[in-house]
Amino acid sequence: MGRKLLEETMDGNPVPHISDSFYSCLDCHACLYVCPAGVNAGNVSLLSREIITSSGDRKNENPYARMIVEVTEKYGNPLGVRSRSAGWAEGIHFDEKAEYLLYTGNMFQLMPYTKNLNSARKRMGSSLSNFMASRVANHPSLIRLLSRMRDREMELKNSGTLRNIVKLLRLSGVSFSYLGEKEPYPGTFIYDLGYIEKFKKYSNYVYSALKESGSRKIITVDPHTYELLKNIFPLYISNFDLEIYYYLDLVRMPSIPRGNEKVVFHEPCHFALRDPKYSKPLQVLSGSANTVLAKRSGNRTRCCGGPDELTFPELSEKASQIRYDELKSTGADCIITACPICNVNLSKENRTMEIADYLASKLPG
Ligand code: SF4
Repeated sequence: MGRKLLEETMDGNPVPHISDSFYSCLDCHACLYVCPAGVNAGNVSLLSREIITSSGDRKNENPYARMIVEVTEKYGNPLGVRSRSAGWAEGIHFDEKAEYLLYTGNMFQLMPYTKNLNSARKRMGSSLSNFMASRVANHPSLIRLLSRMRDREMELKNSGTLRNIVKLLRLSGVSFSYLGEKEPYPGTFIYDLGYIEKFKKYSNYVYSALKESGSRKIITVDPHTYELLKNIFPLYISNFDLEIYYYLDLVRMPSIPRGNEKVVFHEPCHFALRDPKYSKPLQVLSGSANTVLAKRSGNRTRCCGGPDELTFPELSEKASQIRYDELKSTGADCIITACPICNVNLSKENRTMEIADYLASKLPG
């Protein structure tokens, strides 16, 4: 049935762009909590993307999805910018052979590129941009062009967030090392875009790189990498024996006097909808600020639209505006996110802050 749906006609009737439905699914899993039969449509989409990518028939494959996977395989990074991924840590001295390994997963470092890539894509139009996407992996000059496309203001801001995470962990007495430029991208896109056979190989490469550090305890800094390492890697790696943490699991905030400020916390799908019992970010934030939630929260939270930013930018923008309006309608002074993708997508009118930046701003001194 899945293969039949991917054909252009079914029983003689045209089936327009059915593959777009599978690719545009945000993978948020919100449907799981509202479907009366408990059908996980997010997993149906993932499975369908796997059918598309393994069919060998490229006409249904999304050109940007293919570009991201080919570039990751070739350059160890979805946009070929691995050499810049450790720039944020300049001047920081990390422990060697420490109890924990700080694993950024490159997500904060990639966001400054996706914003400008989307603007370029809009200017080129879909035909030309799709053609360019199909050429990028095999043309080093196009990779060099991509590497110059970053939004420098956002790069500075996200570097500051990573440095604040280091500050919070150190303040909490955590000892950790960092792989620097040797840190591999975790392969999130390869998995999410349905290239499961490639992901099996890639995840084993990442696992080996993490094991080489000598630390068994891995500190992640975003919900996508946390969920991938904690729940997906063990499915594809035999004898997986790493302990996976989100950095706020280890942060101990000093007691801070609260002012009158009210903040609203946007719960990321990869925490609230994957494991509704996991509420550490909300706990830490509530301990330091007057925190409220939007009308849709917990296992009813709404996706920020971020996962579609590269592949379906218009749909992504629509989803992010709906969520932003919902958060703003709480009357909070500030919107707090705990994911670099949510942060970019919900950053409108200068009222959005990443949780590490907010917590660090409240520290004495
Ligand atoms: S976008 Fe979210 S709610 Fe919609 S089908 Fe995909 S996983 Fe389900």
